Amino acid sequence: MLCDRKNKSNQNQEIYEKPIFENADMASVIPKNVLPEHSIPSDMAYRLISDELLDEGNARLNLATFCQTYMEDEAVKLMSETLEKNAIDKSEYPQTAEIENRCVNMIADLWNAPKDQSYIGTSTVGSSEACMLGGMAMKFRWRKRAEALGVDITKRPNLIISSGYQVCWEKFCVYWDIEMRVIPMDAEHMSLDIEKAIAAVDEYTIGIVGILGITYTGKFDDIAALDRAVSEYNQGTAHKVSIHVDAASGGFFAPFTEPDLVWDFRLENVISINSSGHKYGLVYPGVGWIIWKDEKYLPKELVFKVSYLGGEMPTMALNFSRSASQIIAQYYNFLRQGMEGYRKIQNRTKDVAMYLAREIENLERFQIYNRGENMPIVCYRLKENNKWSLYDLADRLRMHGWQVPAYPLPVDLEDIVIQRIVCRADLSRDMAELFMRDFKESIEELDSAKILVHGEEEKKVYGFTH
Ligand SMILES: *Cc1c(COP(=O)(O)O)cnc(C)c1O
Repeated sequence: MLCDRKNKSNQNQEIYEKPIFENADMASVIPKNVLPEHSIPSDMAYRLISDELLDEGNARLNLATFCQTYMEDEAVKLMSETLEKNAIDKSEYPQTAEIENRCVNMIADLWNAPKDQSYIGTSTVGSSEACMLGGMAMKFRWRKRAEALGVDITKRPNLIISSGYQVCWEKFCVYWDIEMRVIPMDAEHMSLDIEKAIAAVDEYTIGIVGILGITYTGKFDDIAALDRAVSEYNQGTAHKVSIHVDAASGGFFAPFTEPDLVWDFRLENVISINSSGHKYGLVYPGVGWIIWKDEKYLPKELVFKVSYLGGEMPTMALNFSRSASQIIAQYYNFLRQGMEGYRKIQNRTKDVAMYLAREIENLERFQIYNRGENMPIVCYRLKENNKWSLYDLADRLRMHGWQVPAYPLPVDLEDIVIQRIVCRADLSRDMAELFMRDFKESIEELDSAKILVHGEEEKKVYGFTH
């Protein structure tokens, strides 16, 4: 977290007030921003910190995030028992390495990696790291390809993606000095405009990113149509492009709710896919995954060796040391739920989203953009001529404990302010009914309110949107 000097000097004065059950002889003050001079008992440290965190919102009522806010007791137990295991230390923890490999195998199978090719993949801290790896592989492959074709590789390459991208792609392009060719989402589909995407491709294009689960709206890019368009484009050129699918939210959802939707390695030009284990993979943050359809798509320069049982094992992650507990928790979920469990959980979540969408639509005050058909996301805007805004509604819902963000759509659609509800496995139908009760009550309160509301012109992002 960034804090400027002015803030810092104020913070230096900050101290902990005495805790309520303080030991009578514990008279010293405890500073908050410099390392305390003296130690305190462990129970007191625990108490001070857990009390301090009490005023954060209730994670279960947070409908703003895709990240998991519930895991079973057994999973939590397993995680707390494995916190000390270092995922990178394959020699010390060979069985943990084996478990990570099993996860990669299961995911490659789930995403239909072709049997006649040898996929390769890894766990990451989240999709951000996974996208960075996918992007780097695209850039390195492009350089080789371009060099062989006599293209000037000192010129800046580009990446093609819709304006519904998540910020990690912006980071990737900044870090690697790549031009981000942003294709505005079209208002009709609210996803990648394939014709415009193909028109933007040239010999400097490192690849096209398709998004399975656009963060803003929960819509899917039409990856199958994109694949067809790419095949057609590739036929007429020596400079072949390929597709990376950013399935951060959809990668562990669509295979269970829409098994017939073809978006994965079944498509010829899809060569790498990432997903967040901590979104619909149902694990606490942070774990992510990336798989390349075949080893040949991951340039050798990006693969390093770490020692493993007297031999060596490839590693391609950016991070080195981190706890293996999230990987182990991912394996727990896979083993515990299987196809059946994931199918049930995700379909139940989808039902809840569709219920909320119906209820909200029935109020006849909102135009619905997403009814939970793809991702379990409900997304809507206010119809014209409303005296209060979605920011006001977000405030009212917050008073009931619910966090539901409101924000403008990206470029070309920024005049549209929407609100988004992300349903997760721990939002039960009963909770959704309570939410609707509070939602309706909030609207009644706003309709009869004589209070100042947010300015109409305001186009701000209100609440967490990723
Ligand atoms: C959430 C998200 C990311 C980033 O994922 P993390 O796992 O939070 O790093 C990237 N892309 C999309 C489409 C996302 O929804």
